[in-house]
Amino acid sequence: MNKSIKTISITLLILLIVSCQKQEQSVLAEGAKEYTLFGMYNTQIFDEEFAIFKKATELTGVTLKSKISQNATDEKEAYNLMIVSGDLPDIIRSSFGTDLETLGLDGGSIALEELVEEHAPNIKAYWKKNPDHKRIATAYDGHSYFIPYYTPKGVPGSVFFVRQDWLDKLGLPQPVTIEDFYNTLKAFRTQDPNSNGKMDEIPFFARFKTTIGKLDILFAFFQLKMGWQITEQKISYDPSLPEFKDAIRELSKWYAEELIDPEFFTRDSVTARDYMFGNNIGGMTEDWASTASYIETLKDTIPGFNLSIILPPMINGTRETLRPRTPCFGGWAISSTAKDPVGIIKYMDFWYSEEGNRLWNYGIENDHYTKVDGKAIFTDKILKAPSPRMELLKSGAQWVIGTYQEYDHEKQFSHPVVVDGYDMYIEKNAVRPMVANWEFNLLKYPPADLQKLKKINAELDLYVSEMAQKWILGASNVDNDWDMYVKRLNEIGLPEAIAIQEKALKLYNK
Ligand code: CA
Repeated sequence: MNKSIKTISITLLILLIVSCQKQEQSVLAEGAKEYTLFGMYNTQIFDEEFAIFKKATELTGVTLKSKISQNATDEKEAYNLMIVSGDLPDIIRSSFGTDLETLGLDGGSIALEELVEEHAPNIKAYWKKNPDHKRIATAYDGHSYFIPYYTPKGVPGSVFFVRQDWLDKLGLPQPVTIEDFYNTLKAFRTQDPNSNGKMDEIPFFARFKTTIGKLDILFAFFQLKMGWQITEQKISYDPSLPEFKDAIRELSKWYAEELIDPEFFTRDSVTARDYMFGNNIGGMTEDWASTASYIETLKDTIPGFNLSIILPPMINGTRETLRPRTPCFGGWAISSTAKDPVGIIKYMDFWYSEEGNRLWNYGIENDHYTKVDGKAIFTDKILKAPSPRMELLKSGAQWVIGTYQEYDHEKQFSHPVVVDGYDMYIEKNAVRPMVANWEFNLLKYPPADLQKLKKINAELDLYVSEMAQKWILGASNVDNDWDMYVKRLNEIGLPEAIAIQEKALKLYNK
């Protein structure tokens, strides 16, 4: 190639790049824009005064106007009212991805994949880097109807906590195998680790609102779910497995020997932890990171009080939790009546840019965080707040929209026991990657399949919960009941449900 031609082509290339960049920033160039938003996160209505959204306006030229009844108190209810009214805003936020997808399939919102391809380089790059997350955003018909909110990958939800000072006092190592766990709980029950001369210890307890959730925690000892356990490779309805029967046998033994809270199924989920730790009687639980806060709050009243995070028991050579975080909590969609979808997708893309994502995760620079070696480090305003999360939420940071959460943000204000414990789960790959389980489902179904599956699942949940509870409490014997139980699962429609799941998993892996 001749030198001058080469120079010209490079110049052209630079011109092209410059014009491309100009195009991507056209939101700014075209001046101020305003879009209406339906937004309620849990019970918190979108506030036009949120500091991070005002900052975003400075950076993008876009202002969001809240369009929701100020009397709304329940997200789901407010959402349904808005849909029924037929008066849709430009942007619709929801914590439920399936609702946003249904809206798209019904024609209430638009398919976004082509808009992303042409106008949202940051979302596009994120999906390219995270194909599993792209699939979450893709409906069964192949279209993407919402820009999701993703939680950090590979991070556990709840984990096993054990009274480390009790282990130390009894000279016990941290348990590894299921036999170790049994022996540890037995020692807690029988060897008076709280030193009051009474056999008042409750070795294992947990708090959860629903019966099925409580059962799911008990089966976490055996790496089983209280329902579906679906990975990219395999579909399993755990309550129908022989391993489930074995686990029931073991748990009913534990219950009979008072190793499990006698009030396990009836104890109040709000006060259980306060009661068990505050009275110095609870030995082990499976719960969220906030459990570590008792190390600080009880250090004066219970001298030596200490908790460790341990991995679940080893089953078939692995120590994995089946209780990861829900990977996606909804996101936002563009309604079919929106006048400027291109402008909106560009705005949505801002929240996937490095700057937008940092703003969402960490708040305002030099107020909520400072930059140290290019990293956002929270200021004392956040770190010393009674609830760092609530403090952030006041500014709109972590008020869920379509973007992705950085685990590091929460690490900065977590207790050291949690930082180390969760890192151990992450480093040891102890969080089993699932596409569906009892708590969430990333598989996609045609509406008729989904309806059928929901109906079967509701019946299965009810029946298996009732039976498992009966067996564990010793009201009935699992070995006597098992054949009748499996027959009933099939009558309810388990084989049909498995066929629907198989079809969906095939689609997921396509
Ligand atoms: Ca005691």
